[in-house]
Amino acid sequence: MVKLDAMENPYRLPPALQLEIARAVEGAELNRYPDPGAVRLKSCLRQVFEVPPGVELLLGNGSDEIIQMLIMAAARPGAAVLGLDPSFVMFRMIAAFCSVRFAGVPLRADFGLDIERVLESIEREQPALVFVAYPNNPTGNLFDHQAIERLIQAAPGLVVVDEAYHAFAGRSFLPQLETYPNLLVMRTLSKIGLAGLRLGVLAGAGTWLRHIDKVRLPYNVSVLTQIVAERVLAHGDVLAQQAAAITVERTRLVGEMKRIPGVRPYPSDANFVLFRTTGAQPVFDGLKQRGVLVKNLHGSHPALAECLRVTVGTSEENSRFLDALKQAVNAS
Ligand SMILES: *Cc1c(COP(=O)(O)O)cnc(C)c1O
Repeated sequence: MVKLDAMENPYRLPPALQLEIARAVEGAELNRYPDPGAVRLKSCLRQVFEVPPGVELLLGNGSDEIIQMLIMAAARPGAAVLGLDPSFVMFRMIAAFCSVRFAGVPLRADFGLDIERVLESIEREQPALVFVAYPNNPTGNLFDHQAIERLIQAAPGLVVVDEAYHAFAGRSFLPQLETYPNLLVMRTLSKIGLAGLRLGVLAGAGTWLRHIDKVRLPYNVSVLTQIVAERVLAHGDVLAQQAAAITVERTRLVGEMKRIPGVRPYPSDANFVLFRTTGAQPVFDGLKQRGVLVKNLHGSHPALAECLRVTVGTSEENSRFLDALKQAVNAS
């Protein structure tokens, strides 16, 4: 199968780097607990992500765990979490697991941020936390920067800008951390090639992170994760080159999809493309029969009716997807 359903980076690491990782793992002290503060790893992350001085970091077993820590820390009777709709499902799901009310503000029909509705909702709900995925998943777009700044200014609590797809978008709220004390920025290594490693990063003011850190389990980032991430980040150029190749392929993919009758791709700043088809289920099944796995979003949200989401793969995988898509659309 060509696996294009989970926003994974399709490339492996270069053999020399694989060997370097193997050597580092060989010498790992697995009998010892990991460094709970992950000091060395944090300093690698600061360099690669260009974290402004004075901004601190908190690490998670994937950014999913950071979302869990944030909501757990904010959970108390009456507290609310605000998100956009449709967006990343874990915001809503973890709020439900923590018995915290979740208010979803619908996006506009073009998947843009409806700032007036967001401001109304903030006023009404007084959310302890607001989550904004930038670019958004599953729609793939970047929301208007100024609209997000208005949201941050209006929010009575913390605003978390989730930059899981930063490597493919090039825009970031990291510089705004110095301006807005209630802003936190989240990143992950999952979409840039290390989904199996599980490492998420939260950047923000130490005054906030110190409180979030109270609900973090002490050894949440393992010895192996710390060692491997340090090795890979020492070669940050490798990840950057892979992300650049994916971005080039995204442009080709969207261009070719537009030429297929009955297929409407939406603009993307991420490593995936959302598209509407004549029938999501038959096209999904047709792709699967032809060996290509994508994500079927039909039924997950009214705004995503007849929508599928494809992750940008290697050039060869994308060509196989495009061929299969043409056939599947014709047959359905
Ligand atoms: C994939 C994704 C994540 C989860 O990343 P992990 O670090 O693998 O847990 C977080 N936020 C968004 C918007 C995502 O799409």
